[in-house]
Amino acid sequence: MSRVCRLQEWMQAQGLDGFLTCDNINRRYLTHFSSSAGWAAVTLKDMTFFCDSRYTTAAEAQAKDCSVMEVKSFADAIFHWTEENNLCRIGIEASRLTLSTYNALKEKLGEERLVASEDPIVQLRMVKEAEELNSLTRAAQLADEAWAELLQEPWQGRSEKALAWRLEQLLREKGAERLSFETIVASGINGACPHAEPSDRLIQKGDLVTVDFGCVVDGYCSDMTRTVAVGNPNDEAKYWYESVLQAQTKAVEAVFEGASAKEVDALSRRILKEAGLDQYFGHSLGHGVGLEIHELPNLSPKSDTVLKEGMVVTVEPGVYLPQKGGVRIEDTVIVSADGCRLLTHSPKVLTIL
Ligand code: ZN
Ligand code: ZN
Repeated sequence: MSRVCRLQEWMQAQGLDGFLTCDNINRRYLTHFSSSAGWAAVTLKDMTFFCDSRYTTAAEAQAKDCSVMEVKSFADAIFHWTEENNLCRIGIEASRLTLSTYNALKEKLGEERLVASEDPIVQLRMVKEAEELNSLTRAAQLADEAWAELLQEPWQGRSEKALAWRLEQLLREKGAERLSFETIVASGINGACPHAEPSDRLIQKGDLVTVDFGCVVDGYCSDMTRTVAVGNPNDEAKYWYESVLQAQTKAVEAVFEGASAKEVDALSRRILKEAGLDQYFGHSLGHGVGLEIHELPNLSPKSDTVLKEGMVVTVEPGVYLPQKGGVRIEDTVIVSADGCRLLTHSPKVLTIL
């Protein structure tokens, strides 16, 4: 079933006769066409992609399941679309629309016709199609290859920023469109901050270095974290590493169709509790990955999701000890009927550079 058909089913269930999105990601998902502006306008029978002249030719060639209409004014076009189709209840995305765009719609269409919805398309995006899995697989492969090359180079004496830049170069050279997010390189005590920005700190002997990074292929993101040691780490750091590795591998084993996202998160927390480290694990275990680096479903104590085949999630426990350092290990996996398949394959035994 096409993406727009699945949205139309949802619209029908909600009693909506129209749906509008101008969100770059959700519009791209529905139309299979990437642009920085435009609207996907969906009725119960069809979809129109309203674009400006910059995108007409490319959209006519690439967009799927919609008719492409070049317009001068989006507000006027949407008004005519509403009138022509006699629409009374039009869903809009509460969490993705800016207030100014909402006000412009309200002025043209009238407030009573607009129905604020939570993010239905992000729900549709949770289970990936074969084509999406291919792109995610390729993005993860590039990341694995770039990582393997970076491990061949000397790290000691280079700054966190220099390592982040080198990794970006390697990813780009291998064909990545861009980074999924700004690379995190956290060495020594900087490892105590889960989302540390790369600094000018030089990597020293004895450091653990946490690198969290990803790249984009066909719009799809990869996400992986590895922590390596430069020279022999002390026993405490080795203990953090082995504990996080155990929590990570056990949690990966607990990911399968029908598993509760909350339970998988809880399992990793139990293992770190037994190691006496759970108080240093503050974030959720993982998140969905796709066109966006963070999407649904979450593996967290608050999640009610039951995992389904084709969902793609990260499994990334970590411990962060103030003034000392930290460890995080992250893989991205595809949920399947009898377990899960790793997208990221870089070795997880403690690498000592
Ligand atoms: Zn990550
Ligand atoms: Zn992540």
